[in-house]
Amino acid sequence: MSLHNSGYFSSTIPLNTAKATTPGAPESDVPVSQPTPLKRVVSGAALKELLAGGHSSSQPKTPSKEDGEFRDYSHSEIARDAATIKNSVVMHLAATFLRTPSNIDSAHAYLASAFSVRDRLLQRWNLTNEYHDKIGAKRVYYMSLEFLIGRTFDNALLALQLRDEYANVLGDVGFRLEDAIDEERDAALGNGGLGRLAACYVDSMACSNYPGWGYGLRYKYGMFQQQIINGYQVEAPDCWLDSPNPWELPRPDIAYPVKFYGHLVRDPEHEHRYKWESDVVYDAMAFDVPVPGYGTNNVGNIRLWSCKTNTLFDLNKFNAGDYQGATGGQVAAQILTDVLYPNDNTNEGKELRLRQEYLFCSATMQDILARFKKSGKPLSELPDMAAIQLNDTHPTLGIPEMMRLLLDEEGLKWDEAWDITTRTFAFTNHTVLPEAMEKWPVPMLDKILPRHMGIIYDINLYFLQSVEKKFPGDRELLRSISVIEESNPQQVRMAYLACVGSHKVNGVAAIHSDIIKQTIFKDFVRVQGADKFINKTNGVSPRRWVNECNPDMSELITEVVGDRSWVNDLSKIKVLEEKVDDKDFCKRWWDAKQKNKGRLAEYILSTTGIKVSPNALFDVQVKRIHEYKRQLMNILGVVYRYHRLKQMTQEERDKELHRVVIFAGKAAAGYWVAKQVIKLINSVAEVVNSDEEIGDVLKVVFIPDYSVTAAEYIIPASDISQHISTAGTEASGTSNMKFVLNGGIILGTVDGANIEIGEEIGEEQIFFFGCLAHEVEDFRHYLRFHQPKPDTALQTAFDMIQRNTFGDAHIFQPLIDAVMRGGDVYLLSVDFPSYIEAHKAVEAAYRQRDEWVTKSILSVSRMAKFSSDRAIQEYAEEIWNAEPVPVRGSII
Ligand SMILES: *Cc1c(COP(=O)(O)O)cnc(C)c1O
Repeated sequence: MSLHNSGYFSSTIPLNTAKATTPGAPESDVPVSQPTPLKRVVSGAALKELLAGGHSSSQPKTPSKEDGEFRDYSHSEIARDAATIKNSVVMHLAATFLRTPSNIDSAHAYLASAFSVRDRLLQRWNLTNEYHDKIGAKRVYYMSLEFLIGRTFDNALLALQLRDEYANVLGDVGFRLEDAIDEERDAALGNGGLGRLAACYVDSMACSNYPGWGYGLRYKYGMFQQQIINGYQVEAPDCWLDSPNPWELPRPDIAYPVKFYGHLVRDPEHEHRYKWESDVVYDAMAFDVPVPGYGTNNVGNIRLWSCKTNTLFDLNKFNAGDYQGATGGQVAAQILTDVLYPNDNTNEGKELRLRQEYLFCSATMQDILARFKKSGKPLSELPDMAAIQLNDTHPTLGIPEMMRLLLDEEGLKWDEAWDITTRTFAFTNHTVLPEAMEKWPVPMLDKILPRHMGIIYDINLYFLQSVEKKFPGDRELLRSISVIEESNPQQVRMAYLACVGSHKVNGVAAIHSDIIKQTIFKDFVRVQGADKFINKTNGVSPRRWVNECNPDMSELITEVVGDRSWVNDLSKIKVLEEKVDDKDFCKRWWDAKQKNKGRLAEYILSTTGIKVSPNALFDVQVKRIHEYKRQLMNILGVVYRYHRLKQMTQEERDKELHRVVIFAGKAAAGYWVAKQVIKLINSVAEVVNSDEEIGDVLKVVFIPDYSVTAAEYIIPASDISQHISTAGTEASGTSNMKFVLNGGIILGTVDGANIEIGEEIGEEQIFFFGCLAHEVEDFRHYLRFHQPKPDTALQTAFDMIQRNTFGDAHIFQPLIDAVMRGGDVYLLSVDFPSYIEAHKAVEAAYRQRDEWVTKSILSVSRMAKFSSDRAIQEYAEEIWNAEPVPVRGSII
C-alpha cells in the first residue's frame, strides 16, 4: 500500500492569526451520481449557507460577474511572511513526515516545503472552483491521455511569487533551494510534444484565468526511464509515485463506475434507448493536480483517473483458500491505469489501450455531466456551459460515451443528444503520418463496448445518409468518408469519428492545417464545408520555457521591459529589439548564454562522464527518436564532418570551429529502427570523443533519459538547434519555439511551425534547407522505382560506417538499407546536400559573433506569437466561446 494514496497526508493550514479566521468553504465539486455515496460533513442547509457566504438564507444568492465583493478571502489567506512559511514547513516536517528540523535531509526539506506550498494552492483551488460554480462560468475541458508536466515545486514558487522567501527559510535550516528543487521527480505522464502541449495549455488557462480543467489518466508508471547500456537504449520503469507526491490530492469521494463487455437489452418504448448489462465494472477514482496560475488567484486543475480496486477483493475466494483468485479482479483492474503507452506518433492497437481510453472517457463524461447537472439547467444548455477539446483521437470515445449517457441514462431523443454532443466537442488533429492513425477493429470494439459499437454504427448511418442526400449516388465518396473502413476485419477510423462528432477540427500549425484539408479530411471539407477546419498554431508557456528555465536571460528581459509583466503578456518582449545596438547589453546577452552552456556542460559531465567546453558551438537535437525527425541524417552529417576533420592537417584542424553535437530522446520500446539510430549515435560518439587528434574540435554527446527537466537544462544552452523533419511530416513541433525563445538559432526544414517562426523573426534569423512539402510525393514516387543517388558526402558517411569505423557495420546496415533499398521514405538522399550546405552557413554566421547576438536578440523579441497564452486565447474565442473569469478576492 502506498501511503500517499490513502489520505494520510492531511494538511493543516496556518492562518494569519492577527486576522479573524473563517472556515474554508467546502469543496463544491462533488459528483451527483453513484456509486460512492458522498458522506457530507455538513447538512444540506448548512452547506447552502456556507456557499451563500455565511449569511442565513433559504435561497442562496447567485452572484453575477458584475457582482463585486461577494466574498473576501483575504482574512483566510495564509500569511506570506517568513515566520509563517517557516512554521508551516516545520509543521509539515513533524506532522506529515515525522521529522524534526534537526533530523532532515534535502528530500524532506523539499517535501515539507512542497506540502506547505500545496496548502496555498489548494486554498486557491477551492476559491477558484467555488467562484466559477457560483457565477455559472462556462468551463473548458481539455481531454488528453498525456500530460507531460515535469516538476511543479519551482513553478509553483514562481507563480505564488514566494521563491525568495522559501530560499531564505530553507537557508535558515541549512539547505539550498536548488537542492530541494532537485529532489523532485518529473511527472512524466506523456511521451513528447503532444503531452507537453497539454501541460502548457492548462498552465495558460490558469494564468489567463480561463475556467479550464485538464482530464487525463494517473499512470502508476509514467514514461519509462531510459538507460544507455553498451550504446543501446534500455527501458526501466518510472516508479514516480514511490515517494510521496505533494502535487496531487486523492479524491476517494469522487469515483464513477465504468462498465466493460456484457450485452444489451433494448427499451421497447424508445428506438435509441438500451440497457447495458455488464458484469465487469471498475471504479475510476479522481486525483486532482492543482495547476498554479502565475500572479493570479486562479488555480487550474488536472483531474486524473485511477482504477480503484478495493471493492474487487473477493472475500469468498479468499475464505475458500484461493488467495490468488481473491485478488485476481483487483489485478485486472489495476493494470488499466498502470502504464503509459510509450508510443509517440505511432499507433499500437492493443486491447488494453482501448480499455484505458474508455475508462478515461467514461469517467470524464460522467464527471462533466454531474457537474453540469448541479447547475439545475436543462441538458440542452450543456454546450453553453461546457466545451470539450479532444487532444488527438485518443479521447474520441468521449463522443459515443456522451451519446450513451444522454440516450440511455438521460432518456433524450437521438437528434437532441447528437445536437448537444456535436456542439460541445471539438477535435485537434496532431499528425498525418499513416502509422499514427488510430483505428480499432470492429470485432474488438463490439466485444468490449457493445453499446458504443452500436452508437458508432448509428452515427455513421445518419452521417452517410446526409452525404448521400447531398451527393446522390457517389458511392466512392461514401466508401472513402465512412467512419467504418471496409477492410477485413472492419475498422473504426477514430479521426473520422472525432471529426463527425465535433463542430470544429483544427491542425496545429498553418502548413499542417492546410495539409489535413487536402489529405485526410479532403472529403469532409467537401461535405461539411471549409469553415469547420481551422488552424491553431501551437504555443509554449513563457513561465516554464523562459522564466523558470532561463533565469539570467529572464532578468535581462525584465530589465528592458521594466517589470515581469512579460511573463503573462509575451507581446511586451518586442522592446528587446531596441537593444540590438547596445554593446554592453549584447555582451550580457552572450554571457547569459555562456553561463547556461556552462551549466549544461556540468549536466553532461554528471550524466555521461563526457567533458565538453562551453566555448564550443552547442549544436542540439533533442526530441523523440523517430525516422521522420531524421536524427539519422544528423548523425550521418557528423560522420561526414569527422571524415573531413580526419583528412585535415593539424594546422587546418586548429582553424576549425569547435562544436559539441548534442542528442537526447527516447525511442518507443518497440521501435527497432529508432533504437538502432540511438546505438549508431553512441557508437559514433565513442570513437570521435576518444580520438585524440580531434580533441575539442568535435564532441558528440547522447544525454540519456530526455525529460522536461533535462529539456530545461538543455534548451537555454543551445546555440543552434535542429528541427529537420522531412517537409510535411512534423505537424508543428514545439521545441523549435522553446529554443528560439531562449535565444537559440534554428537549422531546420520548411516544415511545421518552423515556417511561421521564420515569418515572425525574419529569414535572416533562421537557416532553412531541404525540399518543400509539395515536392515530397514526387520524390517518393521517383524513389519507389529508382535507386537513390547519394552525393559524395552521404556516400562518404556510408562508406565510413561500412568500413567498421564505429564497430561492427552489420548492426547499422539496416539503417543504410532503409535509404538505399527501402525507398528512402524520409528523403535523406534528397536533402543531404542542402543540409551540409546549411551547416556551412551556420558556421560562417557563428564566427561573426556580433551579428550572431543580433540574430539571437531579434529572434527572441519577435517570438510573442508562440506563447501558449496566444494559442489558448484563440481556442477560447474561436472554438470554445469561453471567457476569462478572474477570481475576485485579494489573496495576491
Ligand atoms: C517540448 C518537448 C517535446 C517536443 O519536442 P519536439 O522537438 O517539438 O518534438 C518533447 N519532449 C519534451 C520533454 C519537451 O519538453
